[in-house]
Order: sequence, then C-alpha cells, then structure tokens
Amino acid sequence: MEKEKDKKIEKISELRQDLVTGDWVVIATGRSKRPEEYAVGERIREKEDPEKKCFFCYPEETGQEKDVLIYGQGGGDWSLRVFPNKYPAFTRSREPKHFDEGPYFGMDGIGYHEIVVTRDHEKQIANLDKMEVAEILDAYQERYVDLMNKKSVNYIDIFHNHGKEAGASIPHPHSQLMAIPVISPYVKSELDGAEVYYIANRQCVYCTMIAWESEYGNKKRVIFENEDFIAYCPFSSRVAFEVWVAPKKHKPYFERISNAEKISGAEALQVAINKIYKALNDPPYNFYLHTSPCDGKDYPHFHWHIEILPHTATWAGFELSTGIEISTIEPEVAAEYLRKM
Ligand SMILES: [Zn+2]
Ligand SMILES: [Zn+2]
Ligand SMILES: [Zn+2]
Repeated sequence: MEKEKDKKIEKISELRQDLVTGDWVVIATGRSKRPEEYAVGERIREKEDPEKKCFFCYPEETGQEKDVLIYGQGGGDWSLRVFPNKYPAFTRSREPKHFDEGPYFGMDGIGYHEIVVTRDHEKQIANLDKMEVAEILDAYQERYVDLMNKKSVNYIDIFHNHGKEAGASIPHPHSQLMAIPVISPYVKSELDGAEVYYIANRQCVYCTMIAWESEYGNKKRVIFENEDFIAYCPFSSRVAFEVWVAPKKHKPYFERISNAEKISGAEALQVAINKIYKALNDPPYNFYLHTSPCDGKDYPHFHWHIEILPHTATWAGFELSTGIEISTIEPEVAAEYLRKM
C-alpha cells in the first residue's frame, strides 16, 4: 500500500480547452504514437474502370449541368470549372418554406450546391503549384460573391474532401460549395465565442492566438508562415496532425480577400497540405473554410480561417457520446514533424 502511494503518477494525457468555443479535447501524451507511425504503407486506391468516363474530366458527356464558372488558360483547354452538383443536398429555390409538426419545427432543404473542379484527374492540391491553388481560391471567392446575396442564403460552406475515407466519392480532385439558409452549430459556437472573447478582452481571439503562435509562443506549433498567412497545429487539436491556415491580419470576411492575399493564402494552404501528404503518406483529409455568415449582419469580431483535418482515427463511442475527441499525438510534436517535411 505504502509503495503504491509513492509511485509517481505518470501523465498519460492532457485536457485542453478550445479558446474560442470552450470545447475540450483530450491529447494523449505519455504513450502517444511517434510521428513516423502515422504514415501507413501502401495506400490501397480503388481501381477505376478505364471504360467509364470520369464525370469531372468529361462534364458535358456525362450529363453534368452547365457551368456557372469556367477558367481557361491561354485560350486553350479549361483549367477549372464550377457546375451545380448533379446530386445536390439542397434544392434551388428562392423562398424557404417552413413547416411544423406538433412541437417540432423545420424548413425545406433549399440552397445551392456546387462543385469546383480542377483540370487534372490525378493531381491533387498537395502537388499543384501555388498559382493553381490561387485559382481555386479565386473560384471560391467568385462563387461566394455571386451566391451571398441570394435571398435564401445565410451561410456559404466551402469544403474539400480528399480520399474515399474522407467522403470523396469521385476520385477526381474537387471542392464543394453549399450556400444554405442556416448557420451551422459549429460556426455559431465560433461566432459566439469570438464575440464573448472580444467583449472580455477587447481583442479578436483569433488574432490573439495567431500572435501567440507566431511571436510569443516559440513558434513550436507553427509549420509555415509567409507575409500574410500562418499555418499551425492548434493548441487544442481535435485530431492528430490537424492544421489551421489563417490570415495574420484581422479579416472577418473571406470574400474580401485581395489578389495578393489569394496567392500568399494559396501558398500557405498548398504547403500545409503538401506537408501532411508527405508526413502521413497521402492520407485522406478534409479541409473547410470558416468565415462570417452572409445573413446581412456584421461580424467584426470574427476572423476567417481554414481547418485541415487528416483522417487518422475513427469516431467511436467516447467521441460520439461526449463530443470530445482524442488526439493521439501532441500538436507540438506533430508540428515539429511537419516542419521537417
Ligand atoms: Zn477525372
Ligand atoms: Zn482577428
Ligand atoms: Zn473554425
């Protein structure tokens, strides 16, 4: 009994709190995996039927809807195009129809669901050059600006799935844009958290974190920086090798990004994804953009950013029941490893 008492308690994990949302995460420390252990060997890619024409290489021949945007390079072949999703999650309609059933309330799923496709069937963002990625940001912005004033649109969600496990049902690299009538709970909790922090501290919570990461915190979680953008593993990372990319200056609205910022932002995004690609041997991942809603209100305290989440684990009972995720590597260790890539 005495001996038991003297035994030093080994720290096996830390609970860390998200500065914006107040959510908790668990970070494994003591027995966490070494960074090299995350790169699995050969990734099994699903065999594609060579007879079947890719929807995104041949949008006309496979019956896609007409483009809403198309970029060409030098008057020849197209380099990027955007068209409505053939299988949308929302129907295009101007007027949201509400309904109720007893104590419940709902509305029709209306909105705009579009696909942003780059030309090359194989070449993913990790392997594009920064000008090609800047063109993707350009398309996000152009479509955003076009959809933001539609009557039924209050939020525009832009995301990218890579790999089957991350939900990419078509292997051809593409992003999606969903313009919807409601603000998601996650964005809502960030908006609320940013406002509460601002009222208490008189400064933007994201600017505070970025200043800490880039200036005062020994840069231990930073993986890349240029003049306008920073890429870092957040203090309260929810998954192993999570990376955020954010403008260094206070910018609430993504759609106001300048041409110069598109290039530096593209560089930061491409470098971050490329490092994850190399470190984890082309893992499945999702990234998405969080920006101020377009519901006619002002969000001066918010700060747009991109969150990149590699698929390194599956959600199981604990995560689903508590909403607390377990990251199996310390963000500082992950960042150190990514910096070397
Ligand atoms: Zn294709
Ligand atoms: Zn800010
Ligand atoms: Zn966010």
